[in-house]
Amino acid sequence: MPRRRDRRAAAAGPRGILLDFDHTLFDTDRFFWVDLKGAVARFGIPSDAWERAYEAVWRSGYSLEKHLDELARRGALADRETRTRIQTTFDASFSDLRPYLFADVPAFLRAARQHGFDLILLSFGDPAWQSYKVQAAGIASLFGKIIYTADEHGKAALVDELGSRYRVLHAVDNNPADLDAMKERDARVQTHLICRVEPGDGERADLTLRERFREAARYLDVVPRRRHHRCRSLDQVTLA
Ligand SMILES: [Mg+2]
Repeated sequence: MPRRRDRRAAAAGPRGILLDFDHTLFDTDRFFWVDLKGAVARFGIPSDAWERAYEAVWRSGYSLEKHLDELARRGALADRETRTRIQTTFDASFSDLRPYLFADVPAFLRAARQHGFDLILLSFGDPAWQSYKVQAAGIASLFGKIIYTADEHGKAALVDELGSRYRVLHAVDNNPADLDAMKERDARVQTHLICRVEPGDGERADLTLRERFREAARYLDVVPRRRHHRCRSLDQVTLA
């Protein structure tokens, strides 16, 4: 039951939380660079071919289909049957992505809703691929609005729309540049910079451990231009 204070706050005007998906709610590195890459490697795809094909496709919005197309174009897929077997393995092994949510996510989303916040999910990448991850992670129903965009500048533009609708707007993201852009668009946005990795995690000698934090660790080197509340877990995001 929402407490009286929450009901009063809700009556004063709507409050929203804009949440990023990859590396904020979802452990993308463990899913993609450790488990999915490991599953595909069993079909004889060399690691460097996998990475080079990834680099060629991700900018236009990633999808496994595009990635496999690119591998085939480069001659790194043995034959059509191998592709079908990869797809079948993928469908069987990665239909439930709930284990890749960070442990604090379900309770945080439920508590925020109970306190009267609208939840908005903004996810960058190929809409079909991002939608698959969000649906398979089992959190889609908790969000009032889900926006999938392949436009890198989409997050800041969205703040214009949300800023006029919400009296209070929080934004939680692992990318300092995205939060800077939101804050510069609307100084009232309460920005939370969440970091799920430790300094040095991306430079470990062990390849598996490097892959474990491969993309998330890159954001450690991005210096924010604006001030954001820094946190390591959603438990440290105080909603008011
Ligand atoms: Mg992210």
